[in-house]
Amino acid sequence: MSFDLNSLLRPHIAKLQPYTSARDEYTGKEGVFLDANENPFGSITEQDFNRYPDPYQSALKEEIAQIKGVRPSQIFLGNGSDEAIDLLYRAFCNPGKDNVILLPPTYGMYEVSANINDVEIRKVALTPDFQLQPDQILAAADANSKILFICSPNNPSANKAKREDILFLLENFKGLVVVDEAYIDFSDEPSFTNELDRFPNLLVMQTFSKAWGLASLRLGMAFASEELIRILNKIKPPYNISGLTQETVLAAIKDKAKVDRMIQAILAEREFLKGELEKLPFVQRIHPSHANFLLVQIPNANQVYNDLIEEKIIVRNRAKVLLCADCLRITVGTREENEALLKALKKVIK
Ligand SMILES: *Cc1c(COP(=O)(O)O)cnc(C)c1O
Repeated sequence: MSFDLNSLLRPHIAKLQPYTSARDEYTGKEGVFLDANENPFGSITEQDFNRYPDPYQSALKEEIAQIKGVRPSQIFLGNGSDEAIDLLYRAFCNPGKDNVILLPPTYGMYEVSANINDVEIRKVALTPDFQLQPDQILAAADANSKILFICSPNNPSANKAKREDILFLLENFKGLVVVDEAYIDFSDEPSFTNELDRFPNLLVMQTFSKAWGLASLRLGMAFASEELIRILNKIKPPYNISGLTQETVLAAIKDKAKVDRMIQAILAEREFLKGELEKLPFVQRIHPSHANFLLVQIPNANQVYNDLIEEKIIVRNRAKVLLCADCLRITVGTREENEALLKALKKVIK
């Protein structure tokens, strides 16, 4: 497949001379460090944070590479996946000229980030059972279509896209194809990171915010060709991942077994919650889930949403979203939380 990343790149980014930080120029650990205007005495906190962190998170990437079966040079780490999304727009999309293709209903940040960056959005809806429409997607694209965002398993629909549809788009879409796998840990689907060496136009996003339970730390992963990762590294803020985040994740990441136990517990709770919701006569539909949430159709979902808030049960109201009429998105909680939700639902719907 012929694919020229540089021809997609905005010309001023191709020419850009990046900032070189003090920690770029000398990477040794030993020495008297008088190069970065840090406080030599330590920090006001108990733990010292007075030194700037590794701008490329090398130690952490070594561990992630092992777990994910990729090379460290194929990994970008961002302040959440949202940073990678924003950097992709800034690297590839000329405001007022280029466009991106979004497949609603899907994750809201692709659209918000396009709007922040003044980039045209072309929408190709999913089918009523939330599958891709590959031919329509290609028909919507033109020479200025720089990025196609595919979320699988998808938020808010919870289902996964057909693998053959994603492969078809990887083969035929002329721009970058982003496959957002924020929920892949809850799915039986193999990751598209396995396809990186076959498709130079592929970028896979994953996150520590969901299965790993680290939403507050803000750590997102992007996997792509070395060439594409170099571009993201060139334009990111130099110290985008704090030292606290790097150290905390590095210390815990070896315990992959704990993550796997939590995933199994969430999957078991998902089945419990689904089974209990199915017993409720007013529940019209529970969409198949490959994620850690259920999309549930209930009559008068707006009213139910508000009534649940009165009961201090907060779910996500998706009733106004395309193809999601009367749908609530319910995150799988602990057994106690799920039972509290079920009890409140029975109380507010009579
Ligand atoms: C939650 C979520 C993310 C994660 O975003 P972070 O910025 O890494 O917390 C990414 N994509 C989708 C579709 C999500 O639902």
